[in-house]
Amino acid sequence: MAVKVMKEKCVGCGACIRVCPFDAIQMVDKKAVITDKCTACGQCIEKCPVKAIEKEEGRKGGVNVDEYRGVWVFAEQRGGKLLNVAIELLGEGRKIADELGTELSAVLLGHNIDDVAETLIKYGADRVLYADSELLDVYTTEGYAKVIYDLIEEKKPEILLIGATNIGRDLGPRLSARVHTGLTADCTRLDVDKENRRLMMTRPAFGGNLMATILCPNHRPQMSTVRPGVMEKAKLVEDRKGTVEKIAPKLTDANIKAKVVDVVKSDKPVVALEEAPIIVSGGRGLGNQEGFKLIEELAEKLGGVVGASRATVDAQWIDQPHQVGQTGKTVRPGLYVACGISGAIQHLAGMQDSKCIVAINKDPNAPIFEVADYGIVGDLYEVIPALIEALDNVDD
Ligand code: FAD
Ligand code: SF4
Repeated sequence: MAVKVMKEKCVGCGACIRVCPFDAIQMVDKKAVITDKCTACGQCIEKCPVKAIEKEEGRKGGVNVDEYRGVWVFAEQRGGKLLNVAIELLGEGRKIADELGTELSAVLLGHNIDDVAETLIKYGADRVLYADSELLDVYTTEGYAKVIYDLIEEKKPEILLIGATNIGRDLGPRLSARVHTGLTADCTRLDVDKENRRLMMTRPAFGGNLMATILCPNHRPQMSTVRPGVMEKAKLVEDRKGTVEKIAPKLTDANIKAKVVDVVKSDKPVVALEEAPIIVSGGRGLGNQEGFKLIEELAEKLGGVVGASRATVDAQWIDQPHQVGQTGKTVRPGLYVACGISGAIQHLAGMQDSKCIVAINKDPNAPIFEVADYGIVGDLYEVIPALIEALDNVDD
């Protein structure tokens, strides 16, 4: 508990009990006692007339931040293939490390993937911390969290970036709780304050209605999960030099309680929205599930893939992996065609950085037109067939 009552000073007046918003103080033998409900908000400290309550420094007071140096990126791989988000984080991590004048390290866990370690250097890592073990061949929360936790304790990085993938969203909170630091999840922007070496982690808040910039001033490492597809990928430089530090992880079978018996790949085709140069998305304006056939037809004609608004995913017209937006995927294709999508802020959050946006909507006041480069006001069931026909003529 970070707030304590000095019993010798407490006169049992009860002023603190009345002011505590969390009902966290009890009177025992005419002395105030702080219970587990306390959130250390500190409201009672000022209200105590005899100054009998104070903050207990140290336990929740943070760490010596000057002992921590270096930027780390978790290099997520599956089956020896580096995920794109790892390359994006290397690009962002490189910028941050350069601004801070420090080293960029990639943290790679797996088995027999020495070639991936070399690739990470080509993508900008100064150093690769490569933990190789059969027990790390497939991801397990306990195995990966233990190895990275041990590394953090030993090497003390000031920043750790993780992709907000399914694995990253599982690993990040587990690690941050164990190291006792904060984690800003699902960031869409990172900046750094050079003067005090603070990472400014920005993410949508309150349903996407505002962007919140979050700091972690007293604890290290400053941890963030970052949405795939948001940051620019690092460029591969063939002759880039760096070091690969092989780690012998202190990991045994007994450390991993949940065993992965088998890895079964989904038989549904992977929707690689983040990589697609052209996306044609459908919204509630389609009216029904059948409408996606038209979207598919246009996407195929343009050589693109199918995206969707959340309204259509919620209506079960299309699967969730197609969803674009705050709770879906963040995309930045060369061409994004929004059909029957109103342009809610949560949808825009996932596609507004597309190079060229075409919107088709029968409502001329639909907010999607505010971000569109080209707007077509009309019924999508008339506009899309006309577009397909025009494209057919181009093909001829
Ligand atoms: P609507 O808003 O209903 O718009 C339908 C549009 O179609 C209208 O503009 C209408 O004029 C037009 N239309 C109707 N008929 C036709 C026609 N025949 N021809 C042409 N146009 C037509 N949404 C997302 O998309 N992605 C997210 O990730 C996401 N995350 C969210 C997270 C939170 C926390 C919350 C609260 C909401 C989130 N949403 C998200 C939901 C979002 O707020 C909107 O409800 C959703 O985007 C609306 O989808 P829509 O544009 O398809 O439907
Ligand atoms: Fe209640 Fe806040 Fe005081 Fe804790 S610090 S006892 S939560 S008023």
